Amino acid sequence: MNNSKEQLVMKQVDSLWEVEVEFLQQLGRFKSTLGNEAAIQNFIADHLKESLQLDVEMITLDPLKLAKLPGYSAAEWSYTGRPVVVGKQSVKGKKKGKSVIFQGHIDVVSAEPVSKWNYDPWASTIVGNKMYGRGIADMKAGVAAMIFALKAVQSAGVELSNDVILKTVIEEECTGNGALAAIESGYKADVALIPEPLGPVALTGQVGVFWIRIKVNGAGAHTERANQAVNAAVKSYVMVQALLDYEKEINGLPKHEAFADHPHPLNINIGKIHSGDWPSTVPSECTIEARVGLFPGTDPQEAKDELTGFLLEAAKKDEWLKDNPPEISFYGFHAEGFTIDPAQELFHTLEEAHKLTEKKDLTYGAFTGTTDARFYNLYYDIPSTCYGPVGANIHGSDEWVDLESVKQVTKTYAAFLMKWCNYKD
Ligand SMILES: [Zn+2]
Repeated sequence: MNNSKEQLVMKQVDSLWEVEVEFLQQLGRFKSTLGNEAAIQNFIADHLKESLQLDVEMITLDPLKLAKLPGYSAAEWSYTGRPVVVGKQSVKGKKKGKSVIFQGHIDVVSAEPVSKWNYDPWASTIVGNKMYGRGIADMKAGVAAMIFALKAVQSAGVELSNDVILKTVIEEECTGNGALAAIESGYKADVALIPEPLGPVALTGQVGVFWIRIKVNGAGAHTERANQAVNAAVKSYVMVQALLDYEKEINGLPKHEAFADHPHPLNINIGKIHSGDWPSTVPSECTIEARVGLFPGTDPQEAKDELTGFLLEAAKKDEWLKDNPPEISFYGFHAEGFTIDPAQELFHTLEEAHKLTEKKDLTYGAFTGTTDARFYNLYYDIPSTCYGPVGANIHGSDEWVDLESVKQVTKTYAAFLMKWCNYKD
């Protein structure tokens, strides 16, 4: 490694920093929730073309094609006008080094209830060293870091010796189908790095996740006959309790070794409950939607079947539900967990790059959520990990990212590019 070139690239990150912060603020102002990703994707595509001179492709997902692939999760919505963006810097002629993908998701979860925020979730407010906003940590900051890492390398006049692919995908928060579509469109490389806001920690494993929908049927009526009716909202308690019981049960079993030290690795989140539409009407339906975690190595279908059995058993103990069992279905996440051996080149190079920007050794950790890294690791034999900025209140109010950590990640990724892809002296 030519030290002076490396120093030059690090200096470029510093001198581009204000532009990077402004770029991140712009990303934060797009309300890129599910179905509303087109504007930010157009903005990023233009930026990759104009500022980085990348070859850019915008990919529209085809669920019929994707549905046949391992890792696909069923979606209940349209993919029209919701592209994935891929920018590629190709090396012509003889290549040295290895190729890399950097990937970030631009979809964010809702900011509701906005009244709980002290800052406008869509204003990218900076206070001290923090920037606030929905999705600013998860993971628009990572997206800015990966784009400006390559920009810094370019600005320093360094010619990388292998290909770099930048992807900004949709649906990381519900299916992962955006990541799947981008790989299936042919955008593969020797490794993939994802700057999720897990901090400067290399991800070595993550749980699987699925979503479940439980529809409890009652017998609706006017409230004056409520004693003859069966209130579905009240009956839903049986299923809520069963979900809590199941969560307790699976966390009481022997843990997967990657999560051996974690007190509660498998979380079940009851995310939505909906019932009724009128105070004076007994609701005849109540729908519960939940997110369920599972260990790496467990087939999500098996976990779904097991939970279905558990819920139906619980229903049998209820006078009404035993004859009117809940309707159980699934949509969204059907995600396997994975582990990856950190004794491989990807981690070695990441560690070297990390040490240039942080004085501490790189640490490793497993995550009790899911990320798009699973697709690369499980189905395409492309080693993939996450390493990203420090943030907090992700999916909550007053989400923020630590700006100093964004700069540090930008530098680590710039150094990674030089070490991994190699470059022309
Ligand atoms: Zn994320």
